Amino acid sequence: MTLTPSIFDGIPAGLLDCPATELASVLGGPALIRIRGAREPALFVSVLLHGNEVSGWNAVRRLLDMAQPLPRSLVLFIGNVHAAARGVRMLPGQHDFNRIWRGEVIGPEAALADDVRSWLRGVSLFAAVDLHNNTGHNPHYSVLTRLDAGCRGLAYLFSDKAVYVEEPDTVLARVFDDVCPVVTLELGPIGDPMCEERAVDFLTRCMMLTVVPVGGEISLFRTRVRVHIQPGTDFSFADDRREAPLVLTSGVEGVNFHALPAGTRFGHSTRPLAEVLRVLDVAHRDVTDEYFELRNGDVELRRAVVPAMYTTDPLVVMQDCLCYFMEPMGR
Ligand SMILES: [Zn+2]
Repeated sequence: MTLTPSIFDGIPAGLLDCPATELASVLGGPALIRIRGAREPALFVSVLLHGNEVSGWNAVRRLLDMAQPLPRSLVLFIGNVHAAARGVRMLPGQHDFNRIWRGEVIGPEAALADDVRSWLRGVSLFAAVDLHNNTGHNPHYSVLTRLDAGCRGLAYLFSDKAVYVEEPDTVLARVFDDVCPVVTLELGPIGDPMCEERAVDFLTRCMMLTVVPVGGEISLFRTRVRVHIQPGTDFSFADDRREAPLVLTSGVEGVNFHALPAGTRFGHSTRPLAEVLRVLDVAHRDVTDEYFELRNGDVELRRAVVPAMYTTDPLVVMQDCLCYFMEPMGR
């Protein structure tokens, strides 16, 4: 399976009729598509880095259905079409397409990242937007990898909530560090039709901008740590009513973005903490003991945290993480 991106000038025939599951049969693999509009430089938009997160692609289809020429040129990157064909985040054995843009990745995904990066060097860009759906019950929010005024302005255009993420630093947004303002949008849960509306609205407004807005009143959070389940640990959620060495409290995903006080029960474990949970800070240090303690088998929070992206999807837990813990940064 090749991951060499196909390059298109203009929209390939029939592409806009394709739902995400059919893109692989038309494009053959990842694609970079340049669509000339009334203004330069181009807005970069990426969709389907995760194959099952289809709201971004559906929004782009609607955007491109509008009267041409577009108000601004567009560069579209369509990511993991092979995973999209099967309706999954990524295929077994693949690297996560949003974890390949820096560092020591090897294999076809690394070559893809190199190809996209070098192609982009020849294009001048106005701003960059990476579209995702959230896993778990999260509000829609922006993810910032930089805090400069342009990035914050783009974030504010989408939501009053934003998360500043330093880690992982292998995300696509990092490609634009020295290039243009960039924002990653978590549009909302997969399957929620509002996600597509939000994306269409955001992209339409972005296309109409003559300058990138600066700043805005956003509630900004900083991710401090990622919470992982130790590989190989059998775990369940309390609502599953299945016994396992680690049973996680149900309902935590309902409080994503809300403060949880120290002492909150996070789960129950019949094994030592270090065998079931691993909390990593932005420098990849194991800080599990700073965040959790085990009391009579109950896993409790040792300090107040604001969880985000807590997911009860076991596949996402294993492929990515259980959740992030954040702290407010003020406005
Ligand atoms: Zn995603």
